[in-house]
Amino acid sequence: MSLKTAGIHHITSFAADPQGNVDFYTGVLGLRLIKKTINFDAPEVYHLYFGNEGGSPGTIITFFPAPGTRKGKLGGGQVGITTYVVPPGTLDYWENRLHNLKVSFTKSARFGESFIQFQDNEGLRLELVEREEGPTNTWTAGGVPADKAIKGFGGAVLFSANSKHTQGVLENVLGMTPIGEDVGYIRYQATGDLGNLIDIPVKDVPWGNGGAGTVHHIAWRAQDDAEHQVWDETVRQHGFGTSGIVDRQYFNAVYFREQGGILFEIATDPPGFTVDEELNELGHKLMLPEWFEPQRSVIESNLVPIEVRVLKQD
Ligand code: ZN
Repeated sequence: MSLKTAGIHHITSFAADPQGNVDFYTGVLGLRLIKKTINFDAPEVYHLYFGNEGGSPGTIITFFPAPGTRKGKLGGGQVGITTYVVPPGTLDYWENRLHNLKVSFTKSARFGESFIQFQDNEGLRLELVEREEGPTNTWTAGGVPADKAIKGFGGAVLFSANSKHTQGVLENVLGMTPIGEDVGYIRYQATGDLGNLIDIPVKDVPWGNGGAGTVHHIAWRAQDDAEHQVWDETVRQHGFGTSGIVDRQYFNAVYFREQGGILFEIATDPPGFTVDEELNELGHKLMLPEWFEPQRSVIESNLVPIEVRVLKQD
């Protein structure tokens, strides 16, 4: 069985300001707060998920926003830029929107595509690109109409401390196809229609440090639990130690660090975010896995309150 990931499942980052995080991803980018839960490995910290209307794989960015988190340094061993895809003909709308919300941006191009590049409120690097591929996001928020809404991830730019090695993992472990080289980047394609184009600088990138405003890990899609088992075995056969299969409530996870320094995860598409809430209720209530329910009152009292709210535009 030759495995091929469909592409990115989710990307998880560090942040220091929970309300600022909600304001940026819902109020500026117009994404939906899909799930409000805690870091299962550190229950005093939020774990917030933002995505399209249902939190489909390939649309989900997640954060561990914890006040006091030290600032990170972007560099090798991290996802350098998280790429979001918007419908064709909408980049002008997004330029205006970012301008009105006082988010500064620059423009660049690679592989014949135009990108608007900017940072979130904590310095995490993001970009927008127009593409036909990917289903329309029916969620409207923060004044972004559905026909201009972010569909999900277009892909990501991986800052590898060992580019050749990371390229090898994408091709030989994750089953992606190299499709071209341009302006110092090599591009890999996965089989899905979101989160499917991964760019890597050909040159090694000097190491960064994890912290607020940097990515913690990137997760790749496995279609179900049976395939996930095979992924775990495959990764081990390529010589990587893995975490083994971990229950993350909304998906199962396997983690391994590739030699370019980036923490990779393989995550299952099922069961998804409606496993413990109805679709129209997603993100409203603090959700805890059953093993944390007995501690709910203590956990809630340690978290600063957050709300989804409309931001003022000029
Ligand atoms: Zn993850």
